[in-house]
Amino acid sequence: MNGYGGNILRINLTTGEMNIQPLSEEMAREWIGQRGFIAKTLWEELKPGIDPRGPENKLVMSTGPLAGTLVPAGGKVSFGAKSPATGIYGESCMGGHIAAEMKYAGYDMIILEGACAKPCYLYIKDNQVEIRDASHLWGKGAIEAEKALKDELGEEFQICTIGPAGEKLVKYACISHDFGRQAGRTGMGTVMGSKNVKAIAICGSNSIPLADLAATVAKGKEMLKDCFAKENLDEWQDYGTAGVPVWANNIGAFPTKNFQSSYLEGNENLDGKVMRDKMVVTDKGCFGCPSPCGKYCYVKPYNVYTEGPEYETTALIGGNCVFTDIEQVGYLNYLCDELGLDTISAGNVIGFAMECYEKGILTKEQVGMELKFGDVESFKYLLEKIAAREGIGGILAEGVKYAAEQFGGDSIKYAIQVKGLEWSGYESRSAPSNMLAYMTCDLGAHHSRAWSVTHDIAVGRKVLEGKAQKVIDLQHIRPFFDLIGCCRLQWVEIGFELEHYPEVFRYITGFDYSQADLMKISEKVWNLTRAFAWREIEDFGRKYDYPPARFYEETVTSGPNAGDVLSKEALDFLLDDYYKLRGWDQNGLPTREKLEQMGLGFVVRELDPTAVNY
Ligand code: SF4
Repeated sequence: MNGYGGNILRINLTTGEMNIQPLSEEMAREWIGQRGFIAKTLWEELKPGIDPRGPENKLVMSTGPLAGTLVPAGGKVSFGAKSPATGIYGESCMGGHIAAEMKYAGYDMIILEGACAKPCYLYIKDNQVEIRDASHLWGKGAIEAEKALKDELGEEFQICTIGPAGEKLVKYACISHDFGRQAGRTGMGTVMGSKNVKAIAICGSNSIPLADLAATVAKGKEMLKDCFAKENLDEWQDYGTAGVPVWANNIGAFPTKNFQSSYLEGNENLDGKVMRDKMVVTDKGCFGCPSPCGKYCYVKPYNVYTEGPEYETTALIGGNCVFTDIEQVGYLNYLCDELGLDTISAGNVIGFAMECYEKGILTKEQVGMELKFGDVESFKYLLEKIAAREGIGGILAEGVKYAAEQFGGDSIKYAIQVKGLEWSGYESRSAPSNMLAYMTCDLGAHHSRAWSVTHDIAVGRKVLEGKAQKVIDLQHIRPFFDLIGCCRLQWVEIGFELEHYPEVFRYITGFDYSQADLMKISEKVWNLTRAFAWREIEDFGRKYDYPPARFYEETVTSGPNAGDVLSKEALDFLLDDYYKLRGWDQNGLPTREKLEQMGLGFVVRELDPTAVNY
């Protein structure tokens, strides 16, 4: 089929059975790829109520029709499963080169079922698929294991791995690839670890059929030319997301001291220019990327190499745990990457523990040492305890929400999460639309689906009207890139035109979809993943969309937005507006009319929405 690898590879790790089935045109037309394929597959194949770390869960790896082609930055792949971190739909996207390799091997989706009795890795060379022993890799760091397997199999293999945290089923373990790219969020590395899969190694030799080769080549060249002509391309390439921390601090959005503040004194030392001078060895990009934002670094005082830190890492480790030395942040990023931990969740959990210690909720006896914000040893100690699930690390490994439930007292206010997922790197008491975006994200408090701080600044940070519509629009546009297998950062960061994509999508697949048609499919997936949470959690609804009480009860303590808070009334206004515009009821559940309008009749039949108030 044009634009697709053409097949679905299914591996049952319990029995060792494997099969390769052709991808149906109906699936491709209706769900496009990647996030669409994952959502549809998990809805159909997972029984509600299963243990996300049990063998009944499935790990689905999928990419989209533009991946592996000459469209700029067509190198994205997503992993999906029921999330161990949240208990609802989980998914995380990753760059690098493995998406293209997967297509060249002939696959649009790889579904892992069951669990292997012993540590294994998957060897996939076109249609030669083997479950191989990984006892020699077990216990190794994620990047160390990738290097070892590359040495063993050859450079032509693209490999993703988990670290020790994934092996130990820490709830926010990530999947790593290309020596420092991660599918970080919602615990996809945990699910891989629960299946005893240390690595997936792929090498492909097929080509991807295209509906109109000449038009695709011409359009690809035009897109590249357009990309190279963008004014801010050079700055983006020089610094990538590492250019963001100073800006975020100056507008009062940089998470500081476990989100008590949005302004960090000394933040200028975390600037991308400082990082470039002190640490950057080379720029690094994903497959086909015209604007490589990866910064590969040598952290001299610690004698380690690491990719990054990117903005979110600098925000959650630097700001949230109060480090103002970029080399310290670089070192802690390296540790997270080798242990296989999502830096957003890890920085958030550790900032939370540091605050609990400072406020006397945690004692030295419970922790095993004194904890201090800004202390490398404190961070490192907790990180290693978490990855090994030792002592206090056993509790923190379950995420900030669970830890607060164990610690009690006011700690639930300090657990900065939504739906169990630790909040990404923007303090949002002075950014209502961004607050709403993280509250309503289908995965929990994550920035990838919608991010709208600049919108709040442009239209007024105290304004509430119109914010919900903006969030909804972004929740369809940004995840659209996770349907087609492309990076969204060219559109987000350098002003690349969205209009290019429907046209090139048509040349590649032959499907004649307008931009509106593609957005409607993105909206359909949004409704399906919302329904997934509803199916999993009996009392799911509005109460799961609120942020922690810190954001509506405590004011920002310092910086340009000191004194700001977003009241519960304001949050309710935003939610009411959001649900109404989405066609959901006031408890935040999609109505029967909405589901039917989206072509989700199968959801209506399963959930029986007549049982709720329409
Ligand atoms: Fe990868 Fe960055 Fe390029 Fe996106 S902009 S494809 S994340 S290198």
